[in-house]
Amino acid sequence: MTLTPEEALEQAALAGIHRLQIPTPFAVGRVNCYLIEDGPLTLIDTGPNSGKALDELGTQLGARGHSIDDLELVIVTHQHIDHLGLVEIVVEHSGAEVAAIGVAAERLANFDEDAEADDRFAVELMLRNGIPEEVTAALRSVSRSFRGWGSHVAVTRPLADGEELKFGDRTLQALHRPGHSPSDTVFWDEQRKILIAADHLLPRISSNPLISRPLDGSTERTQALVAYIESMQKTREMPAEIVLPGHGDPVVDHVALIDDRLAKHERRKEKILGLLADGPRSGYELAQAIWGNVAVTQAFLTLSEVIGHADILVNEGRVREVDDGNVVRYEATG
Ligand SMILES: [Zn+2]
Repeated sequence: MTLTPEEALEQAALAGIHRLQIPTPFAVGRVNCYLIEDGPLTLIDTGPNSGKALDELGTQLGARGHSIDDLELVIVTHQHIDHLGLVEIVVEHSGAEVAAIGVAAERLANFDEDAEADDRFAVELMLRNGIPEEVTAALRSVSRSFRGWGSHVAVTRPLADGEELKFGDRTLQALHRPGHSPSDTVFWDEQRKILIAADHLLPRISSNPLISRPLDGSTERTQALVAYIESMQKTREMPAEIVLPGHGDPVVDHVALIDDRLAKHERRKEKILGLLADGPRSGYELAQAIWGNVAVTQAFLTLSEVIGHADILVNEGRVREVDDGNVVRYEATG
């Protein structure tokens, strides 16, 4: 029998997992952090680095009889600032250990330099894919202005893919599920069939597979959508009953949701191939053909989406990249 999202939240709470909804300044709205009342007392994600988020985190922990100082372990699900900006402050108050997937530890520790490198990477990628310089410059300043909501994170408990975190009353298995970001990690309670999934799987909005710099520092970009589809297929096989996402309500039928997402990606991929029938187009031209002129803040997102699908078409041999030395265009091979 499938639960309703409300019942799923109640079940999670009975298992000692409580959703805390922390405000963010971003379009996505509040971020879900999860308090696990177990030994160690654990917080999964913290919310962004802002006074408002800190106040709400304190208040919502207080409503459950805890304070920030009581936290013993903070788990970081991935590298995005709406999820981890407060980690440093929470650790200063509590002395909590910080667990995250080990391959991301260096990236999380070097937030400032890496945010700068991420911006340079994004600018280069956008220009190479035909996005006009003024849009690129505007997006870069937006990204700079958001940086204060982030923070660097010193990971004291680096986790291997598949490693188990033991609690007094449960075991959570850390599973690396790159795609939305290269560091996405989900936490699996096999006994209770609860998956804490952060942004790997969201109920109402699709998790954008953002093109990123690889965690190992190499310069070749990730094939984010290829990785994301692979990750979703792994999650699809799991017998989860409750999936607790990073935004919004619990997912109670993850197989149906994943099938829906996979079908949507398949349709979009064919649409992009169709758009190449009249000749080569840049990533920017493809994004414009699909979404029209989008807000500046959406430019990188829509480009990531187009490149992700084009990667798959290239891997399938149906599209090739043509580089004129300035801009890369996609061309149908058929
Ligand atoms: Zn995210």
